Amino acid sequence: MANRQQTVQYTKLFINNTFVDSVSGKTFPTINPSNGEVIANISEGDKADVDKAVISAQNAFKNGSPWRAMDASARGKLINKLADLIERDTVILANFEAIDNGKPFTDALLDVEYSVACLRYFAGYADKIHGKTIPADYGFMSMTRREPIGVVGQIIPWNYPLLMLAWKWGPALTTGCTLILKPAEQTPLSALHTAALSKEAGFPDGVINVITGYGPTAGHAISSHPDIRKVAFTGSLEVGQIIMEAAAKSNLKKVSLELGGKSPLVIFDDADLNEAAEIAYNAIFANHGQNCCAGSRTFVQEGIYDEFVKRAKELAANRKVGDPFEDGVQQGPQVDDEMFNKVLGYIESGKAEGATLQTGGKRVGTKGYFIEPTVFSNVGDDMKIAREEIFGPVQSILKFKTLDEVIERANKTNYGLASGVITKNIDNALTFAKAVEAGSVWVNCYDAVVPQCPFGGYKQSGHGRELGEAGLEEYLETKTITIKLPTNH
Ligand code: NAD
Repeated sequence: MANRQQTVQYTKLFINNTFVDSVSGKTFPTINPSNGEVIANISEGDKADVDKAVISAQNAFKNGSPWRAMDASARGKLINKLADLIERDTVILANFEAIDNGKPFTDALLDVEYSVACLRYFAGYADKIHGKTIPADYGFMSMTRREPIGVVGQIIPWNYPLLMLAWKWGPALTTGCTLILKPAEQTPLSALHTAALSKEAGFPDGVINVITGYGPTAGHAISSHPDIRKVAFTGSLEVGQIIMEAAAKSNLKKVSLELGGKSPLVIFDDADLNEAAEIAYNAIFANHGQNCCAGSRTFVQEGIYDEFVKRAKELAANRKVGDPFEDGVQQGPQVDDEMFNKVLGYIESGKAEGATLQTGGKRVGTKGYFIEPTVFSNVGDDMKIAREEIFGPVQSILKFKTLDEVIERANKTNYGLASGVITKNIDNALTFAKAVEAGSVWVNCYDAVVPQCPFGGYKQSGHGRELGEAGLEEYLETKTITIKLPTNH
């Protein structure tokens, strides 16, 4: 049952299948954003702890180790077993997500469901990852093997703590890598619980390690570690740049990055107004706007612009903000005081730069980090709220006239993660889908992220892809084995 008092059982680092204190003995508090109170004190990992985790992951990856010697199908079974245990503990995990991140419990239930689906999708791949035989010149017989890259580091954000873990663990485990995960310091609880479940599932020692702690210390120790062969990161552009630099300077480890976005959602005159307004509302307000693919630039064609703004205002004004555990609540607090102040700052800049505030704009209550769902109309392309990632419940509505114009404006950003188009005209839909510079385009829907389809960014929204078959590539090496045959038959 939904329980805001869910007991926190695991607060220590998870290394070599054991929960241990950090070498320094230090801890850090994880805070409940609904009331600003400490939920638990968590072990604070740093370089010395990452070093220990790397040794355990290296041992687990040694030739002949239980993990390396395991049949690929057995690896798939283990991942499925972990998915089963996460499903069994759905309510516990959803409680942690709601307490630690502040998202409504009902949304957190969906996050757990999607995490289970992601792991099951990747589990099925374990014994289907194979190479090719190649008709090589000069009579050689050649074949390729797809092999796990080895020890990988994974650094994840706080907006979808468990789901981001599943996106990272699924491909790493199914390809046979061993891993060190660092959850965000704001939201360590679900990762620690899932670490315990991985032990219960029967993963061999050292395959999965979780180091809780801060970015510049524990995170940096991962991205700059000489014996980690790949780092996967989801988070901000600025930290993505730091991680790439650390990876290059340490050992040129492979890097995959999923960074932010300023995603355009384009609505043409011929769209069903109510349906379009609803899609646009969910596109920006889902997860309190703390969503890397948030539809944060809503472009609306001039013929329906005024009506659309009216409808958008109504929807936002009726959104229920409050305690994540209360029935019917659609929006909880922002994740911490830093994000809370950052979002309020953007709202002030929207007002100062001349956008029209239709609704919202203020804090809700006096405790916790709650912000009113906010709608701006008459937003100009050059305003800060139209250029920078706000990561909060702020909808910016821009007006456009023609298809060509909106394509150009939609692409005028350094980001390129996601996009959407709502129209009944197939020519407009497909022309936009072809021309937009973004890793995902959703037609007459938004945020349709599913495990089967690749997800990732163009331009500064990232490198590489997660999910789908493409997601496996990031964790694989290709080995060519070439055989000289005695005669050329
Ligand atoms: P962040 O990028 O600072 O943190 C993400 C992860 O990186 C955390 O685990 C953090 O501890 C770690 N980290 C921080 N500094 C590091 C370093 N020097 N080396 C290695 N790891 C490091 O994100 P944030 O501060 O939590 O949020 C700030 C902004 O990031 C938001 O406003 C939003 O724009 C963006 N963001 C994007 C996503 C996404 O899904 N793309 C998710 C969360 C935040």
